[in-house]
Order: sequence, then structure tokens, then C-alpha cells
Amino acid sequence: MVWSELGQARRVRARAVLIATGAMERPVPIPGWTLPGVTTVGAVQVALKQAAVYPRGRLVIVGSGPLPLLLAAQLGAARIPVAAILDTTPPGRLTAAMALLPAAALGAPDTLRKGLALLRARDRSGVPVWRHVREVCAEAGPDGSVAAVRFRSVSGDEERIEADAVALHEGVVPNPQLTRLVGADHRWHDAQRCFHPVTDSWGETSAAGVFVAGDGGGILGARAAEASGRLAALGVAGRIGRLGESACEFRATPWLARRRGERSLRRLLDALYPAPDWIATPEDDAIVCRCEEVTAGALRAVAGNAAGPNQAKAYARCGMGPCQGRMCGLTVSEMIAHANGVSPAAVGYFRIRAPIKPVTVDELASLSDESAA
Ligand SMILES: Cc1cc2nc3c(=O)[nH]c(=O)nc-3n(C[C@H](O)[C@H](O)[C@H](O)COP(=O)(O)OP(=O)(O)OC[C@H]3O[C@@H](n4cnc5c(N)ncnc54)[C@H](O)[C@@H]3O)c2cc1C
Repeated sequence: MVWSELGQARRVRARAVLIATGAMERPVPIPGWTLPGVTTVGAVQVALKQAAVYPRGRLVIVGSGPLPLLLAAQLGAARIPVAAILDTTPPGRLTAAMALLPAAALGAPDTLRKGLALLRARDRSGVPVWRHVREVCAEAGPDGSVAAVRFRSVSGDEERIEADAVALHEGVVPNPQLTRLVGADHRWHDAQRCFHPVTDSWGETSAAGVFVAGDGGGILGARAAEASGRLAALGVAGRIGRLGESACEFRATPWLARRRGERSLRRLLDALYPAPDWIATPEDDAIVCRCEEVTAGALRAVAGNAAGPNQAKAYARCGMGPCQGRMCGLTVSEMIAHANGVSPAAVGYFRIRAPIKPVTVDELASLSDESAA
């Protein structure tokens, strides 16, 4: 295994490797999402929590899921105004999710209580909430920064809200670069509209000795991430002969139960806040690959003739930039699948090559055989 640490390339031989690279927010390729002033809900939250920095002026939160609710509550607690919340959750989800509520209440009661408190906080906050909006786009002002958000309301009218900052969010997806790099098998998750590595109950992938824990193995949330980390540690201990099978199984019991509970909550969340269908059909002028500035229109022009994302890369340069497709990968798979009338499972994902993040030639040159252990 090779990695970069404090500007130094390092290498180690290992009998087992545990990948725990977490989740990332699903890229939301609406027209104008690359404008200055448009960011993600997670980015606003991180800036607020880690540096007490927040967007100035009229902030509009756009999206669906628990994270926009949490951000609105955190901004409210810090007395930072929010101009409007545009909730993109489609209508009818509560009814669709009702049957899953009892299992979630039994499996993860504390997390469910927190979620209900966030909904109540949003409804009492006085911030204008537009429900079930669609066809959202960010509009530039004379200085090139975002100046407004346009969208279609639930009644079908086209609306426009002035904005100095926009925070987008349509759920989180596993960060797949390392599990792809090792060649592990991945499966398409219909409800979450993303790929996740296929693992056994210890988190071992199809690449023998490579384990994955946490949201990088599938989106289940922070409490389940701790459980899957414990289970993967037991799996590794079993694999390298530090613990016997029955000891591993005995110690795994509470963590398996916790993960089951959190899974029942996730099923409820997936039903309440489904990943948006339109990801497969972004508008022509929306940029899909930010590194190479490839628009949805340019990708769509070749998508029907591409067997998969790797061929589309050659045709349209999407995924060829420094982020190696981290931003556009899912959208590219979805668009090609849509153009060919198949599931993203059938078209697959970008083939990921090392280094997964840019490193200097100097750093690569510093990697010598002596660093092997
Ligand atoms: C933007 C965002 C905001 C969230 N906010 C909340 C919240 O407010 N409350 C909540 O309960 N849950 C939140 N979640 C979900 C929560 O973060 C996860 O459920 C939980 O952290 C999963 O734990 P994990 O260990 O799998 O991943 P993480 O805690 O995300 O840890 C992954 C780590 O891997 C590192 N990493 C990634 N790639 C590499 C690489 N190539 N090399 C080395 N290191 C790498 C990352 O820097 C990170 O430190 C949020 C998720 C996201 C994406």
C-alpha cells in the first residue's frame, strides 16, 4: 500500500488493509452550480463548525434530506439568517415511508427523535420554506457571482428568489475512489442511486484482505460507521489469526445489532428523501465534469454511443481532470445508463488509477524501496 503523508510518499506491505474514507455529498449538477457563491450544505456546515465562517447576505438552502434540516437548525442557533429553504423532496414521500416508521423507531429511536426535532425546529424558525420544488437553477448577477435561484413551485409556477449564496444538497454517497482502485466489486443501490462496495458482514471486499468500514461501504450514518469499524477490526483480527472465529463472533454480536437498527432507520430515510431522478437527465447547459468543464449537453451527445464511462471519457474528456471523476462519476454513469435505457449497474463506473489525488514528482521520487516495511 502506498500513501502520502506530510508531503512524503510512504509504502508498507500489509496482510490486511482497512479503508474508511467515508461519504461525500452527491454532486448536484444544476445549471449554475459552479457559480461563485454556490456551494454545498456540507461545505457551509464544515466552515461554520470548524472556522465559524458563514456566507454573507441572503443564503438559500436547496435540497432534500436530514443535512439541510441540520444546517438550518445550526445556523438558527448561531443567529445566522437563512433567506429561504427550497425543499426538493417530491410530494407523497411521507405516506410512502409510513410503513417503515415502526422498525426505525425500534431500531434507532434516538436518531429518529433528533430528526423529528429538526423538522419541528425548521417549521418554527420563521424561515420561508418552499416544499416540493423542482427544476432549480442558480442565476448569475452582473459580477458573475450567484444572484438568484429560479425554480418551479409545487403549483407549477416559475419562481425566482434573490440570493447571495446558495447551499445545495441531495444526500450523501460513498467515497468510492480507494475501493475502486483496489478493484473491489461494487453494486448499484437503487434507492440511494449510488454504487457501494460488495462486502461480507465483516466488511471484507472481493479484494481479499481489503476491508471497508463506515459510509464508504454504504450510507448508514455515523452510529453504524462505528459499528462497522468495530466489525471490520474483528474481521481483520480473525483474518490475520489474532482472534479465533468464535471470539470474533461473540464480540461482533452487539455491533451487528446496532448496525441492523441503523439500517432500519436508513430505509426510512431513503424512502422519505429519495435521491433525485433528474440526476440522470441534467439540463444541457449544466456542467457535469467541473475539472474539464464538460456540459451535460456535450456528454449527452456521445452518451448513446458509449459502452460506459471509460469510453465516454475518451469521447468527451469527462473525468479526466485532477479529481479523477470524483465529482462527475455518478452523473456520468447515470447519464450513459439513461441514454442506453439500462441500469447504471450495466454501464459501471470510471476505472480509477493511482495517484487518486495529485502529488508532486518530488514526492513520487522520494518513494524508495527502503520505505517498504
Ligand atoms: C458533508 C457531510 C456532512 C455530514 N454531517 C453530518 C452531521 O452533521 N451529523 C451526522 O450525524 N452525520 C453527518 N454526516 C454523515 C457522517 O459524516 C457519517 O455518517 C460518518 O462520519 C461516517 O463515518 P466514516 O468513518 O465512515 O467517515 P468519515 O467520518 O467521513 O471519515 C472519513 C475520513 O477519511 C478521510 N479520507 C477520505 N479520503 C481519503 C483518502 N483518499 N486518503 C486518506 N484519507 C481519506 C476523510 O478526510 C475523513 O477524515 C455528514 C456527511 C457528510 C458527507
